[in-house]
Amino acid sequence: MIFNLEKSINQHICLPTEFGVELYIKREDRIHPHISGNKYRKLKYNLIEAETLGFNILLTFGGAYSNHIAAVASVGATFGFKTIGIIRGEELKSKVKDNPTLKFAQSCGMQFKFVSRSDYREKTSEEFIKNLKEEFGAFYHIPEGGTNALAIKGCEEILTEADKSFNYVCCAVGTGGTISGIINSSKQNQKVLGFPALKGEFLTKDISKFVTHKNWELTADYHFGGFAKINSVLITFINQFKNTYHVPLDPVYTGKMVYGIFDMIYKSKFPKGSKILAIHTGGLQGIEGMNMRLKEKNLPLIY
Ligand SMILES: *Cc1c(COP(=O)(O)O)cnc(C)c1O
Repeated sequence: MIFNLEKSINQHICLPTEFGVELYIKREDRIHPHISGNKYRKLKYNLIEAETLGFNILLTFGGAYSNHIAAVASVGATFGFKTIGIIRGEELKSKVKDNPTLKFAQSCGMQFKFVSRSDYREKTSEEFIKNLKEEFGAFYHIPEGGTNALAIKGCEEILTEADKSFNYVCCAVGTGGTISGIINSSKQNQKVLGFPALKGEFLTKDISKFVTHKNWELTADYHFGGFAKINSVLITFINQFKNTYHVPLDPVYTGKMVYGIFDMIYKSKFPKGSKILAIHTGGLQGIEGMNMRLKEKNLPLIY
């Protein structure tokens, strides 16, 4: 299998000199139009493993607007796997055509099984997986969000030797898989800062299980009330950032992280002379679905 997409570039974000820090964004969002950013990194070694073990079906889990579901569906279409998505929310069954993420996944050939929220909570139980095997046959199981040991191995390839001159590496956090890989491949003199996209008190413990270094910290100040929660301050920030720097940000992860980095820069939380690298983990496919929800709530849209 040829699975070697291009390396991403670090884009300089030109800040007023009085801030006294330098900011770069690693454009992992540009790796692939649909298998974006960290989802590519997390899937890479899992696909190699699936192929080695002779599986031709990938089965995974996700919510209605999941970047991971979109990425797995696209991987299936690109590399010749059959894909099955177990989707949270039975009510979505009749609404696939109104949901840009699910519509895209379906166009890639993904087959869905919609389950209730209470059934969905069983997604890691042996019994649940066993029943799915009876229903769909032998499949390679990728957990929700794609986080497992092979995913973390893939995320260890995000930082390169050339990135060792950065003092801070910043990353959005969902399950913590991506930041774990970044932490493992960071240098002793670097600090890795995580920006959880949700209220996740459990995350520090989860990440500790995966990492070999102690040079990291999570900041709980920029989740905007919880997963996929958003307000007009964040929307305005995302739009202004794109206008000024020509870098699109997604509303669920990278928008919150970059908002947080700017807030910390304004508040002089980084020592003068710091070189900061922010990882753009992708997720731009989620903008369309978010805009549909913003429209219903009469909030400004992301453009
Ligand atoms: C999934 C995702 C994350 C979170 O990654 P984890 O490994 O679950 O912490 C961050 N950013 C984007 C754009 C994502 O799609």
